[in-house]
Amino acid sequence: MHAQATADPGQMTTAQHIELVEHYAAHNYHPLPVVVARAEGAWVEDVEGRRYLDMLAAYSAVNFGHCHPELIAAAREQLDQVTLTSRAFHNDQLGPLCRELAELCGMEMVLPMNTGAEGVETAIKTARKWGYTVKGVPKDQAKIICCRENFHGRTTTIVSFSTDPSCREGFGPFTPGFEVIPFGELDALRRAIDDNTVAFLVEPIQGEAGIIVPPAGYLRQARELCREKNVLFIADEIQAGLGRCGATFCCDTEQVKPDMYILGKALGGGIMPISAVVSSRKILSVFRPGNHGSTFGGNPLACAIARKVIEILRTNTYQDNAKRLGAYLGERLRAIKTDKVKEIRGRGLWFGIEFHKEAGVARTYCEKLLHEGMLCKDTHAQTMRLAPPLCLTREDADWALERLEKVLTR
Ligand code: PLP
Repeated sequence: MHAQATADPGQMTTAQHIELVEHYAAHNYHPLPVVVARAEGAWVEDVEGRRYLDMLAAYSAVNFGHCHPELIAAAREQLDQVTLTSRAFHNDQLGPLCRELAELCGMEMVLPMNTGAEGVETAIKTARKWGYTVKGVPKDQAKIICCRENFHGRTTTIVSFSTDPSCREGFGPFTPGFEVIPFGELDALRRAIDDNTVAFLVEPIQGEAGIIVPPAGYLRQARELCREKNVLFIADEIQAGLGRCGATFCCDTEQVKPDMYILGKALGGGIMPISAVVSSRKILSVFRPGNHGSTFGGNPLACAIARKVIEILRTNTYQDNAKRLGAYLGERLRAIKTDKVKEIRGRGLWFGIEFHKEAGVARTYCEKLLHEGMLCKDTHAQTMRLAPPLCLTREDADWALERLEKVLTR
């Protein structure tokens, strides 16, 4: 056994922890060299007691801050009651959650799952079944349109329509039934839709691609086109939704109401994985017992936490802070005089800072910021993503801006 495997994790150094992970965990990630041991709000602390401002928030899964006291209390309370029943039986949290989430979304029905990728898979299955049973698409001919540079998760079906070689290579054969078009081009969508098209699956802002904001009006026009052609408009709001963009849903910022939301990440309050497809009764009624499911989907622990998340979202506090502080942070970021940055994109408290090729890769800047006490992460080679918890304060933002200015101008 590896030497550190027997040590008390509380006594191990950063280097020892990393060595252990390198040795025993598959190398499917390339994390920054920091080992977090504790967290509260927007701040985390490593195993050696150094504090960092978290400007990533677990890719938007910690939108309400680490260890939010009300969320932790909801989890604790539920832990003492019941945590898992499977869907073989009912539990007393599932019905209330589905009603509250449907209401939050202005929809009628919910299908809960666990991870984001499962939510996306569920949306794909829903759209196909709807295509065959409602729209009348011939058997096995359903087509779903997706966008280039998309990120919807890691399952074999989802990577089938990825355009990122590192997500795909070595994982074929791929699932058929998808057509990939450029993001933000309405004419491409118009050309791609045919009689067998059941859905357009889109991130309202592409997160992993580098916070790519589509042209103004694109989402609304795409939504209208889908309505006209009897094609489901599916918004993957797993990363963009639940407050991140300064509104409950990113689609709200464009006055768009999709046929289906896919939610995940922050729905679990940074505590439990829970995802969901939320849609109309007509669409989600395509499912019959045995068609789909998950042992953990709709478990009472995750549901109880998600119910508290919804209660918190109803106050609009986090959406408002994302909007207000996001505007401030964006303005200050854009005012930094530097020749390293090609573009700054974003909405709400969500930014992609794209570096010129000559300025080096984004990871270098993330490493420098780590040494300054700030956590953020690169996406693809040239873009750094900022997605702090939405409880970030003005003081936190100023603190971050000071570090960013130093690193971007040095
Ligand atoms: N969809 C979007 C837009 C995402 O950003 C992600 C994760 O980053 C996913 C789906 C997949 O979610 P998960 O990692 O929980 O499977």
